[in-house]
Amino acid sequence: MSVMKFGGTSVADAAAIGRLTTIVGRRLESCRGTAPPPVVVVSALAGVTDSLVDAARLAEEGDVDGAVASLQQLLNRHLTVTSAVTSGQAQATLVAHVRDEFTAGFGLVRALTVLREVSARSLDAVIAMGEIASSRIVAGALAQAGIVADWVDSRTIVITDAEHTGAVPDMIATCTRARERLLPIRANGRVPVMAGFIGATPQGVTTTLGRGGSDYSAAIVGACLDVDEIQIWTDVDGMLTADPRIVPEPRLVPRLAFAEASELAYFGAKVLHPSTILPAVSKNIPVRILNSRRPDSRGTLITADADSAAGDLVAIACKRDVTVIDITSTRMLMAHGFLRRLFEVFERFKTAVDVVTTSEVSVSVTVDDPRRLDAIVDNLRHFADVSCERNMAIVCAVGENLRGDARLFARAVSALGGIPLRLVSQAASRRNITFVLRDADVPQAMKRLHLEFFEARVEAFQDPESALRRC
Ligand code: ADP
Ligand code: ASP
Ligand code: MG
Repeated sequence: MSVMKFGGTSVADAAAIGRLTTIVGRRLESCRGTAPPPVVVVSALAGVTDSLVDAARLAEEGDVDGAVASLQQLLNRHLTVTSAVTSGQAQATLVAHVRDEFTAGFGLVRALTVLREVSARSLDAVIAMGEIASSRIVAGALAQAGIVADWVDSRTIVITDAEHTGAVPDMIATCTRARERLLPIRANGRVPVMAGFIGATPQGVTTTLGRGGSDYSAAIVGACLDVDEIQIWTDVDGMLTADPRIVPEPRLVPRLAFAEASELAYFGAKVLHPSTILPAVSKNIPVRILNSRRPDSRGTLITADADSAAGDLVAIACKRDVTVIDITSTRMLMAHGFLRRLFEVFERFKTAVDVVTTSEVSVSVTVDDPRRLDAIVDNLRHFADVSCERNMAIVCAVGENLRGDARLFARAVSALGGIPLRLVSQAASRRNITFVLRDADVPQAMKRLHLEFFEARVEAFQDPESALRRC
């Protein structure tokens, strides 16, 4: 039993959806008679959520023509894909569904243009359209390919709180609904197809789980149905040793432990949404990251106890554009209760802190969500001097070996030699080291760490002379 989640590039156009149907078809073939069909979870077509966010912003600025034109373009794109993947009556039905969804979207965007205000709740209603439309199209494409598939409205399954744009699922309600709705479909040998990323409050108001949240949807459903594997189909071969947009030739990490994957996802490895691992851990369900363009490649398998420790580090990741807040108070000297007071401010404004370092009279923290920064700083100023530094970044090195081998820390610091490090921290788990530095220094820092931990060793093996020359 599995959940198969396909990301934006894996449903980007008719060709990508064609690959998806082949992958799901093969999966069905291989489990015929031995396991029920997979649940398919899909993201919006590549780039659609960004475009919907832009359309909502145009509406907020009162630009009705711009907002409507942008939605019209999206509608045309979805209709083009629909025509390419279906035919006959099935196509007519699917076109009607897609049009209905966009008709509601046009009405919503026009209303927002009049109000010139886009609340988080309205934004969720707009951006949910992407996943609703794509999941309808994928269900239609599977049916067209002879795979019996039922579209299921995720908003009747994933029940969340009302924290719009970053809603948290109520796992008890969600699991009850998931079993009620999805198990009968699978029992009939049909493939349930549902939108990732979206859910609804108990009152039925549409919510979203945060950007990139379709991975999380897949893990939530997988945990509810106790599946054997959660598959994340994407556009890279798996978890790589570094972000391929920054380091030219990262390597595949074939095995990862849940804890390592969590650290990497949290600190910027976009291939996995940071919350994905939680439901998987709770039921000890393996997560596999796979490339939908190369379905036969082995991918990355993430389990509780992976022995990924073949190298010194497992991978490096980076979180860009964070803010460092320095909080200094002489009252802190010998005082107790100061840290409680300080973190209460972050709690009140629902802002997560990533890295923390302290000295006797100062505390430095990083935050990546600047929305409530001004209010946080104002409140901290009641009892401390506060300064902020924007355009910073976190570079994080992860690996279980960091626990046992103190030399790895020294090697990482010396690899970064000359790059100003603003904060350095190694948490109690000792499976990661985090460096806070200027965002502009990220590419250089990532490349140097990658060279030190992932390239030099291979090069020394393949070409000892050039490795020696470099030394
Ligand atoms: P999807 O649309 O399938 O969810 P995402 O764009 O969310 O895909 O995630 C895949 C992308 O994550 C890759 O194309 C890659 O650029 C980026 N990425 C960043 N860090 C890593 C990493 N360590 N390993 C693999 N991919 C990474
Ligand atoms: N479509 C959503 C986004 O772009 C969710 C996802 O792709 O996982 O953030
Ligand atoms: Mg993603």
